Amino acid sequence: MKDCLFCKIAAGEIPADKIYEDEQVVVFRDINPKAEVHLLIIPREHLAGLNELESEHDALIAHIMRLIHPIAIDQGLESGYRTIINTGKDGGQEVFHLHIHLLGGRNLPGFG
Ligand code: AMP
Ligand code: ZN
Repeated sequence: MKDCLFCKIAAGEIPADKIYEDEQVVVFRDINPKAEVHLLIIPREHLAGLNELESEHDALIAHIMRLIHPIAIDQGLESGYRTIINTGKDGGQEVFHLHIHLLGGRNLPGFG
């Protein structure tokens, strides 16, 4: 999608610290990390967020979900990690291209 930051990152038009990519997914470091490890997992396909998911995306979502564990292990997060998906303005979503935050490491902040 034109003028979408994460589409441009997926296409390599804007640089990012990518740690994994395949035909469907790109994983890169958040530019403003909230934890020792803070990655963003995005589909290459432009989907604004969870509210845009349809049954045609089921295989993509399963692929993304099953990627989280090996990526966490690759990042040294054997003892645990947190995943967050912000949805919509009131959900704190700032970039309207679906992404999963993968956070881990010491001093993971709590909620509230
Ligand atoms: P959200 O609030 O869930 O939409 O999260 C958007 C995230 O994207 C924030 O954590 C930002 O720090 C991150 N972000 C914004 N621009 C970039 C960028 N150019 N490269 C990497 N991460 C970014
Ligand atoms: Zn996009």
